[in-house]
Parts: sequence; structure tokens; C-alpha cells
Amino acid sequence: MQLGRTPQSIYLCQQLREQGICDEKVLDAIANIPRQLFVDEALAHQAWDNAALPIGQGQTLSQPYIVARMTELLMQANIKRVLEIGTGSGFQTAVLAQLFDEVYSVERIKVLQFQAKRRLKNLDLHNVFTKHGDGWLGWPTKAPFDAVIVTAAAALLPEQLVEQMRDGGLLVIPLGSEQQSLFKIERHGHSVTQTYIEPVRFVPLVNGELA
Ligand code: SAH
Repeated sequence: MQLGRTPQSIYLCQQLREQGICDEKVLDAIANIPRQLFVDEALAHQAWDNAALPIGQGQTLSQPYIVARMTELLMQANIKRVLEIGTGSGFQTAVLAQLFDEVYSVERIKVLQFQAKRRLKNLDLHNVFTKHGDGWLGWPTKAPFDAVIVTAAAALLPEQLVEQMRDGGLLVIPLGSEQQSLFKIERHGHSVTQTYIEPVRFVPLVNGELA
């Protein structure tokens, strides 16, 4: 399996540019990934639509626009080690792996974690480490991280994720339940600053038992 641009992926990136995504490194990282490998074969013909797609277990592969938007928020020179919560299909993980030195990703549904791990290995993305676990708890043994990205909506700001960021670190997270908004949160010592980005729609960051 190889990374590489295709006519469909180049067309999708053109649409993303029109929606305001302007970081060419992010667009390249998205264009390089064979998105059809991240969904069920029956949905492969829709893989290049700029839309969210089901990945089983009641979960969804995020819309390319939101993957691009969230990734763009992380593009700072001093960000090298990234924690992702909600691996899902592994598509966002594959984007991050091309842009940052090390990516750690936590997923609560075992079967999704297993499939994502296999896809990422098949694409030779060896700077990615996945774990079956509860994202509310982060990945304490690998902390501190330069940035954390959460791809499920949290009802409250997960304290442990803030603690696992280095000073000056960045957290990109959808907050809310019915009404959700994307926020960029920066940690400065013991205080945080929160910047509103835009309204979003994600599956919930689930509390409790692993599946
Ligand atoms: N970035 C993924 C989005 C998947 S949807 C993609 O593009 O495919 C969100 C994911 O978050 C789901 O797979 C869901 O199982 C996972 N999730 C929800 N609550 C979680 C938790 N507490 N810990 C870890 N993962 C969680």
C-alpha cells in the first residue's frame, strides 16, 4: 500500500482550498492518503466526497474539511509529539503521522483500534503508536505532549489531557453535547486560554467502559 496523490484526492484538496484551508503541507498530507482504505469496501466509491462516512460501531470517519481544519491548527514549528484521542478509522492519524515526528493515538473500541493499527502499518507509517484505552485518561506514560487533538466531542474539558501537555502546549477539541464548538486551548503554567474556532458535529467522547 502506498501513499500518493490521485486525481480524486487532488480534486478534494481543491475543494478544501475553496473552503479556506490554505496550509499546503496539510493539503498534501490529506491528498497522499488512500481514503478508500479507511472505510468499508461498500463505501469506497464515496471515499473522496467531502463528507463524514460511517466506520461501523456507530462511529464516523470525519469529513476531510474538519480533518484539515483541526490539523491546520496544530501546524506550529515547536510541535513534534502529538497525542490523538479517538483513533476511529485512523485517517486523521495518518495525516498527523506525515506532519509530526511521533503520533500517539488512543481508541476505546478494540476492533477499531486493531483495524486502524493494521492500516497505518500497511501504509508504512511507523511513527504512530496506537493504544486501546480511555481517552479521558490520555496516555500518561508517554506525556508530556506538545499537542493533543481530540476527534470526539467532550461534555467537559478533560483535565488529564490538559495536564499531559507541556507548558505552552496546544489542545484542539470539540466541546459540548447537543451544540458543539471547536476550541483551541493553550496551556501556560497552570492556566489555560480558550479560543473559539467554529461550530462542529462529532460523536461523543464516551465516559466509562471500554468496548
Ligand atoms: N478521527 C477519527 C474519528 C473517529 S470518530 C476518524 O477520522 O476516523 C471518534 C472516535 O472516538 C470513535 O472511534 C470513538 O470510538 C472514539 N472515542 C469515543 N470516546 C472515546 C474515549 N473515551 N476514549 C477513546 N476513544 C473514544
